Amino acid sequence: MKIAAERIERLGALAKEAAAEGETERARTYVRRARRIAERHRLSLPRKLKRFSCDACDSYLIPGRNARVRTQDGHVVVTCDCGEHARYPYD
Ligand SMILES: [Zn+2]
Repeated sequence: MKIAAERIERLGALAKEAAAEGETERARTYVRRARRIAERHRLSLPRKLKRFSCDACDSYLIPGRNARVRTQDGHVVVTCDCGEHARYPYD
């Protein structure tokens, strides 16, 4: 269990690095791998990774590059370039 969680964390960090370098496809591969491990072990994704990945296309989101972030009615609305929106409570 702990090892799975660590692998997910690691993949999240790799996804972030890849996305920052403009390697969007590689970042997506890491996001997908992290999601698969999470599902298999019935873990939830770390909040950071959940919020910076798109549920529809698995992109690792970088606001200003491939995602827009707005606040609306006390929520944060993240819009991926693919058109998917995600709303989170403001915190
Ligand atoms: Zn998307």
